[in-house]
Amino acid sequence: MIISSSYKTVENNGLLAHIYEHLLAQYVMKALQGRGFFISSDIILTAKTYGDTCFMDVEFYSPEAQDAYNEALRLFDKWDIPRSAALRVATECGIEMNRLVAELAQDELLHELSAVQSSPWRQQSDMTYRKADSKSSVNTLFHAPYIKYGLESKNLFPEYVLEYSVDEKYIQSPVDQALAAVVMQAVALNFLVMIRKKHTVYDRGDQWSEASKSVGYRTFLGVSKKDDSIVHQLKNEFMEYVQFLSASPFCDNLQAALVRCSQNYGQVLLGRDTLNSILGGCVVGGRGWLEMADDTRIRKMIDLIEIDIYEIDY
Ligand SMILES: [Zn+2]
Repeated sequence: MIISSSYKTVENNGLLAHIYEHLLAQYVMKALQGRGFFISSDIILTAKTYGDTCFMDVEFYSPEAQDAYNEALRLFDKWDIPRSAALRVATECGIEMNRLVAELAQDELLHELSAVQSSPWRQQSDMTYRKADSKSSVNTLFHAPYIKYGLESKNLFPEYVLEYSVDEKYIQSPVDQALAAVVMQAVALNFLVMIRKKHTVYDRGDQWSEASKSVGYRTFLGVSKKDDSIVHQLKNEFMEYVQFLSASPFCDNLQAALVRCSQNYGQVLLGRDTLNSILGGCVVGGRGWLEMADDTRIRKMIDLIEIDIYEIDY
């Protein structure tokens, strides 16, 4: 495993750093999928803004994935950001903060973003500390001359659940159940990258369901506005996405990741503790992981994933 932690500071402007971070993370994940590298199997990426500084923490499981990541990072900073992407991401940050975009001067925002693009990346290992001014932190700054967010409210954005499951009739053993969990989470996390291409959503986290034999996994999405057609669209997009994954290197990569898991957690797809609770109290060892690392079983499991999408009423 190779770990990289780099950062960019947007002097006294946590808000802009945050918008930059969302654009960047989405661009990088999309670029990596295009090159045949996927979340969970090949790379784990965590992007987060603290104060006025945007961090990109990455774990790679192959030098090729690292090369592709470094190239995507470089290309992003040369990218002529489209207005639509800037608007989508400004809204996405608003969903995260529970605030509507009240005012936006797109050209000025793009101009400011391009200044961030041309500023240098630095390594976390070289940092002593970085403390943002209390007024310019991502947690306190909600307006700049080119963007202004409204007041915080919990009721501005509808919330949808994407519920993934594999029926218990296909689960013969704890190894099947563990594989269902691994495959389901990897598919769900990668599908989210594709969802963000077409829809303005914010990922509000996930949850495993407690069922004895079947496996269920939910992700929660805040959506920019109520849209009844989104349920239907996402279902269709999921079916297309599964076809895309089956034809891509995803299964091979996941198989390799499962082999690494079998070698004393050379990679952690699901930790012992999480898996123990998903399986209702069952520990899986190296030989179990190796049994999961079977191309036919992986492909079959992908096809068995069902998706249900619904809005949550509070
Ligand atoms: Zn964010």
